[in-house]
Amino acid sequence: MAAERPPIFATLGLAVRSTPDPALRTIEDKLAAGASLSVEDGVALLRTRDLHSLGRLALNAKRAKSHDRVYYVLNRYINSTNVCYANCRFCSFAADEKKEPERIVRMAADAVLAKALETGKNFNQIHIVGGHDPRQLSLDYWLPLMRRLKEVVPHAQLSLFTAAELDYMARRHRMSYEDLLIRLRDAGLENINGGGAEVFSARFRRLVCPNKVDAAHWLEIHEIAHRVGIASNATMLYGTIETLEERAEHLVLLRESQRRSPGYNAFIPLAFHPDGNEMSHHGWTSGLDDIRMFATARLMLDNFDHIKAYWMIQGLAICQLALLFGADDMDGTHGSTDEELIYHSAGTRSGQHVDDREFRRLIEEVGFVPVRRNSTYQEFPADWAPKDEAQPERVLTSA
Ligand code: SF4
Repeated sequence: MAAERPPIFATLGLAVRSTPDPALRTIEDKLAAGASLSVEDGVALLRTRDLHSLGRLALNAKRAKSHDRVYYVLNRYINSTNVCYANCRFCSFAADEKKEPERIVRMAADAVLAKALETGKNFNQIHIVGGHDPRQLSLDYWLPLMRRLKEVVPHAQLSLFTAAELDYMARRHRMSYEDLLIRLRDAGLENINGGGAEVFSARFRRLVCPNKVDAAHWLEIHEIAHRVGIASNATMLYGTIETLEERAEHLVLLRESQRRSPGYNAFIPLAFHPDGNEMSHHGWTSGLDDIRMFATARLMLDNFDHIKAYWMIQGLAICQLALLFGADDMDGTHGSTDEELIYHSAGTRSGQHVDDREFRRLIEEVGFVPVRRNSTYQEFPADWAPKDEAQPERVLTSA
């Protein structure tokens, strides 16, 4: 039992007065006064060599938000299509159906439904993202599929699309974002995934992903979604050409967006993966860069409840360490038959599935309490199962 062992972080609540980095002392004073950090503060955090003090600050901020809890979700993860013509330079996932037909994945709606149910119904989230596929990214495909999923697994929240996909769909149907989101909400959409944000800097987007939704429209889509009752997450892709200033500006833009229209649950730092794309020469992010990114996000995003360390991206070992640097979520198990394509096309060394017992073991080893959740952070007992899976149904709390 974790409670019987002295927590690793028992001494980490100390102040950082002894830090050799004067910027951290200034930042600690600001945090103590309840002030939000500036872009300059964010750059100082991303640069600091005093990892111990950075960890103390970020862990204090994490504990103020989620105490000793660390979250995970039993989920299904599906990439329903990889057909896309946006040509983002960092992408290893997208396939051109004319030039490389052997790489195409384009699942019929029945196949998506069958995939979701392949290992039973004991999951609390279905996470689906894909490319800008002209034959799949339409209301004709999605509305009936979403209704069927809600009929068959009503307990599983639908966490679908990114703002980039929604922008594509809105333009395709010549609909306003609000009308599109209301149609999707009425069919069961409960959460929008955080992808497509990349780095908000106009310079970055012009050079790396000029054909996808721009920053202003990405933010607008999420803010409208929140207003019509759909929650969302946010991400940042780090580790290519972005400057540290651009990373910090990205976090400030998210914080301001949350102030204008609350509804973001979690921020997920996404480390660039180099295999099979045009930006391979940037290589892998380092462990120190990953850890600084988690801690900086936790300290800058004072109005986000959760910072997610997604094991598929940085790997289980770094993600376990990230729990001491501000993260409070390890994301989802994925089903044992799931086949994530985005990061596996780009060379991730992570597997496809993590057993929830492994999440609990890793979280307890750090001294935290593992908590099963759904997309909107309702909490469930670890042994929860839907009624037709022959185990008692109990929800502990409501978000
Ligand atoms: S990142 Fe997304 S939008 Fe860009 S090419 Fe890949 S699948 Fe398409």
